[in-house]
Amino acid sequence: MIGNRMNRSTLPIALLLTSVLAILFLVSFTHLFLYPQITATVDEQLIDETYRSADVLATHLKQSQSLLNYGEIPPLFLADAKSLLWKIHAQKIRLFSSQGEIIYSSDSDEIGQINSLPYLQKIIAEGTPQSTLIENERLSAEGLKSTLDLVEVYLPLINGTEHLGVIEVYNDVSIQKSKLRRLINLSSRVVNIATLILILSFGIFFLLDRRNRKIRKQTEQALLKAESEHKYRDLFENAMDSLFILDDQFRYIDANPMATEVFGYSHTDFLQMSVFDVIPVDQVPRSQEEFEQLRRRGSYKNFIGQMRTRDGRWLDVEINSSVIIENGKMAGSRDVVRDITERKKLEREFAQARNLDALGILVGGIAHDFNNLLTSVLGNISLTKILPTSDAKSEKYLSIAENAVLRAKDLTLQLLTFSQGGGQHKKVVSLTDLVRTSAAFPLTGSNIRCEFDLAEDLKPALIDSNQISQVIQNLILNAREAMPDGGHIMISGTNISLPADNEFHLPESDYISLIFIDTGVGIEDKFLPQIFDPYFSTKERDTRKGMGLGLSICHSIIIDHHGCIDVESYPEQGTRFQILLPATNDPIAEENHKEPAALHRSLNILIMDDEEIIREVATELLNHDGHRTTCVEDGSEAISAYSKKMNTEDPFDLVILDLTIPGGMGGVETLERLTALDPDVIALVSSGYVNDSTRTDYMNHGFSGSANKPYSIQTLRQELERLFPHN
Ligand code: ADP
Repeated sequence: MIGNRMNRSTLPIALLLTSVLAILFLVSFTHLFLYPQITATVDEQLIDETYRSADVLATHLKQSQSLLNYGEIPPLFLADAKSLLWKIHAQKIRLFSSQGEIIYSSDSDEIGQINSLPYLQKIIAEGTPQSTLIENERLSAEGLKSTLDLVEVYLPLINGTEHLGVIEVYNDVSIQKSKLRRLINLSSRVVNIATLILILSFGIFFLLDRRNRKIRKQTEQALLKAESEHKYRDLFENAMDSLFILDDQFRYIDANPMATEVFGYSHTDFLQMSVFDVIPVDQVPRSQEEFEQLRRRGSYKNFIGQMRTRDGRWLDVEINSSVIIENGKMAGSRDVVRDITERKKLEREFAQARNLDALGILVGGIAHDFNNLLTSVLGNISLTKILPTSDAKSEKYLSIAENAVLRAKDLTLQLLTFSQGGGQHKKVVSLTDLVRTSAAFPLTGSNIRCEFDLAEDLKPALIDSNQISQVIQNLILNAREAMPDGGHIMISGTNISLPADNEFHLPESDYISLIFIDTGVGIEDKFLPQIFDPYFSTKERDTRKGMGLGLSICHSIIIDHHGCIDVESYPEQGTRFQILLPATNDPIAEENHKEPAALHRSLNILIMDDEEIIREVATELLNHDGHRTTCVEDGSEAISAYSKKMNTEDPFDLVILDLTIPGGMGGVETLERLTALDPDVIALVSSGYVNDSTRTDYMNHGFSGSANKPYSIQTLRQELERLFPHN
């Protein structure tokens, strides 16, 4: 491109230079070579002609031996001399004797005169002819100034060795010479004029070319400018970010189509607005600081803030600005605004998940210990209840206490679910009944009307009913608290199919969508990002409400079920929660409510647990049913006890192993060792951790069943009956 441009601009100059050189060469050639050559050739011709005439005359004289007496000049000579004078316009013809005496002259007055000039004597003596063209105003051989153009020929007459004299012929060539001069002058003028015309033409061509090139360059520049403006406009119109041009008062003076699409204002709306119309009041100082930076540094990068859409939504935005300078002053700025609401939402979810993780560890530890205490309380209550000494009254109170412990057990289950996820008791369940029964309970005694709109073909889901029921109860409880003076709750359930890349960021699949809408006080925009955080509450704190754990538990349970929970709220109008759970096409699981009875055979059971109260209650419960127990505190004791009994008359029928033993060998490793000793060992895993994969997959680890802490006599009987059915 650059090379082409250079060629285009240097070519005319090169051409012009070559042409000027060619013209100069032509002029020099004609003046310095051609014209002198022509003149010389013509001169030669003229001299030659005169010489030949003189030679003809000399021929007449050479035939005579004694001719050079002026009385004896041959008549032929005289006749030829006369005709010559007429024919070649000879100026003068003279015949000199060897002494230089004029013995014949066309001017008869000269006859008898003697020319004793040395030049003549030299010609006679040497016998060498001499021919010269003497131009007008030049001196002749005689030393006279010529008034004409003359050819002067001296032809010596020699007879053998005798020098007889000289013929002199003066031929007037003025006409020929002046003709020649005129011709040369004319042609020289023609050449000069042609040269001038050519030089002028080239000059004009050069100037015109320069002008054309200037015009072409201007046109090219104009085209380039138009093209770049078009490109800029194209970029502006089709950018995927919102682009704004602002004046120095931060009023919008242009906005691209993406800006109108994202923020909902029309282009005309924007032109009547300033930045301050769309940012929150508490962002104004930061934005002013940004403008100052723009003024000072020329740009501002990654400003994170908020901007309001026409329909009142606040979008999280990232703004990059660069200043527009005109006449050395800030005339405004260009803002590239990116909607990062979705990204912020994900970041918040991530932060919340991290909060939940930390809290989960804490809660998990407490729940574990609490569970062990409950095991002891529950075990002892169930034992007292079945004592023969207990009367009806104490049995009633014990039943109340037992129910309270069972509710406390549910609570620890929830806490453990929250801390470690759940799904331990997942079954394929119909959500229709679960939703109805779970929603009814928290609304007891309220003046809230609850309506259901559940699709008849609502698909079942693989869920832990207790946990999902807990989610529903929490949502309804919150709705109830948001409507202290009564209101309306609408619960709808539909089947939906989500495509890949859906707004919920869930995998492409079939889901059950449950929507809970209340007509309560709603949630302020500024609280929305926090409501799923643990301990976030806008309520007064007390033991029943305002703990701020309800929604974080809901979130945890739903995520553990591979679903999602979303919220929308309009202050003073109401709140809408949506839950999505993966649907299944598997058949609904059958419920089995058979009350277990005590085994008839007495089993020999080895119990391993680091907690004394657990060992005690397990021993009491099992002894009560007639089984014999041995208790150990960790894995190595369990192995030695088991191996001791293994080859005796009374080996252990069953081992109950606690999954985690702080500082000692836990249930999994102990069972591995026991299996190595006795491949037929029967073991139950005992743990409070609902989400422990070992207990879920106890079969994979060699366990034959589980005893969830806190366990009651029924739980233990259920497992023993399953494992030893023929006893
Ligand atoms: P808590 O109910 O103990 O405050 P939650 O985690 O269940 O804790 O709820 C957190 C906060 O979310 C509540 O304090 C309340 O401000 C808000 N919230 C939840 N559900 C609703 C609702 N249906 N209507 C209004 N506000 C709600």
